[in-house]
Amino acid sequence: MLRWCTLTMDPVEEIKARLPIEELVGQYRQLTKKGRNFVCLCPFHNDTHPSMVVSPDKGIAYCFACNAGGDIFSFYQSIEGVDFRQALKDLAERTGVALPETPVATGAKKDEKERLRDCLESAQNMYRQKLKEHSVALQYLGDRGVPAQQIEEFGLGVAPDSFSETYEHLLKEGFSRSEILGAGLAVQKDLKEGRIYDRFRNRLMFPIHDAQGRIVGFGGRTLGEGDAKYINSSEGPLYNKSAILYGYHAAKEAMRSAQRAYMVEGYFDVLACHRSGIHNVVAVSGTALTSQHAKLLRRSCDTVVLCLDQDQAGRDAAERAFHILSAEGLHVRSVAIVQKDPAEAAQQDPHALQAALESAGKPYIESVLEAADTSAIQSAEGKRMLLQRVLPLLASVPSAVEQEHYLGMVAAALHTSKTALYEDLARLPGRVQDSSESIVAQVPVEKGAHTQPFSKVEIALGLLLLYPSCRPLIRELIEPAEGFAASFYAAIAALPAGAEMQPDALDIAPEYQERLNVLLLFCEEHNMHNWSEVLAYTKVRKQCACANHENLQHTLRGLHDKLLEAQQQGRGTDETQIKNQYQQVLKLARLAASG
Ligand SMILES: [Zn+2]
Repeated sequence: MLRWCTLTMDPVEEIKARLPIEELVGQYRQLTKKGRNFVCLCPFHNDTHPSMVVSPDKGIAYCFACNAGGDIFSFYQSIEGVDFRQALKDLAERTGVALPETPVATGAKKDEKERLRDCLESAQNMYRQKLKEHSVALQYLGDRGVPAQQIEEFGLGVAPDSFSETYEHLLKEGFSRSEILGAGLAVQKDLKEGRIYDRFRNRLMFPIHDAQGRIVGFGGRTLGEGDAKYINSSEGPLYNKSAILYGYHAAKEAMRSAQRAYMVEGYFDVLACHRSGIHNVVAVSGTALTSQHAKLLRRSCDTVVLCLDQDQAGRDAAERAFHILSAEGLHVRSVAIVQKDPAEAAQQDPHALQAALESAGKPYIESVLEAADTSAIQSAEGKRMLLQRVLPLLASVPSAVEQEHYLGMVAAALHTSKTALYEDLARLPGRVQDSSESIVAQVPVEKGAHTQPFSKVEIALGLLLLYPSCRPLIRELIEPAEGFAASFYAAIAALPAGAEMQPDALDIAPEYQERLNVLLLFCEEHNMHNWSEVLAYTKVRKQCACANHENLQHTLRGLHDKLLEAQQQGRGTDETQIKNQYQQVLKLARLAASG
């Protein structure tokens, strides 16, 4: 636990006071007012109707369908994929709350990842300097229409045409051999000999950042002949290509406000879109699209517009992308341009590119149907070919309403009936999957979809808090042994009889305050909060009995396991003792069941 060397208000509380939960969540999802609360589409699961409840009173945003969310810190951690420390830093900055310097942090050794980032930054500084003197690279960038201001903004550079210059430079800057290797900037060719080579040689360098805008690696385009056109940093503690999208951090704000992201193929395409005034653009780098990429996008928008290369490889990539993005509940559209890619389009006709992108194209399935050869689908063979392609796409559409809509379109295009299509769809042998594991579209699993977020005793205690007149019933409840329930039990038992109590004034361990608020929201969502006194008494009493039953069953299972263990290990005295305990608890359980 962090400790603050100040007597003023705890920064965590101060940030909470300054940043209402609805304001934070509202920056990611559109909120709809519902009674005292708001609701919105849950960003953490494939949600089709608003499942996330946002409670301004309780400072909680929670989805009871997938059990995700919490207070502003929990929500921010989940949606940005950061740890508590980073969330505290970001939200403090946003709300203008000063964080006291923790004495531990100053002068302490930087952690491994920070060292690797410093190493990458140091390399980037060198690459940027090199570019300034590199006429060939500057000429090349000029030919591709990249202006000086964009070179600066995106931090482009050049890796020198040398096997060791970068490595030597970083050693001089104080980085160790293993740090340079860990940052993915060097390659150890021969393990015995231990010689190290620069990974990037004579390449135009694009720094790659994570969602928070911190450098994690590079993509390098060759400036010579005969080498691989593009290579990326090797994967390491910072760079995981399956989870990183090029340009994401620069696109984040624009994606959120438009609820839309453009997906292009290359670094130059990303730059081209920015020049055309489109800032919500990302590209995969060095890998095919994965479901992790799709989840990352899902945090910031609900629609992805594909603008991939206009060739067969690009069309195949679009089809795979459609399956993967749909599986995460994203709407997928497609923009067709006459040029090869957005980079070429921006050079030939930047205004046309902007207009094409801003139109956001067409829903992907529609674009596939339109691109189909109309003369070919007159024949049975032609219909079969198109169906083979379109049926798996239809199967991937997450919303039933949308699926129905496209089914109608396909039926019309093929001059067949919807019923016939439904039959074909039902016969489809599961989802089509590619052999490459990175692009296997996963059917979204709603995590913990059918599990209750709270135990029976937790709900019983929640009800005792909500109904002061029922509080004497706490005597009927078996005292929980540990965790939130134990802390909550002690707090309620200590309350003066019949007193109304604000939940945040309850004497409960601070680490449980969030769980308590989620529990009260749970009770509210399940209409447990406005029963009449008489009804409440019956219901609470029943809940206490259920909680006791759950508790005793749990104890019995524990004793049973202990007994088996004692028997196996031949501990005779323990065995007798446990047996006695077991009999006593069993008696209690029977008594509870009959009462
Ligand atoms: Zn959810």
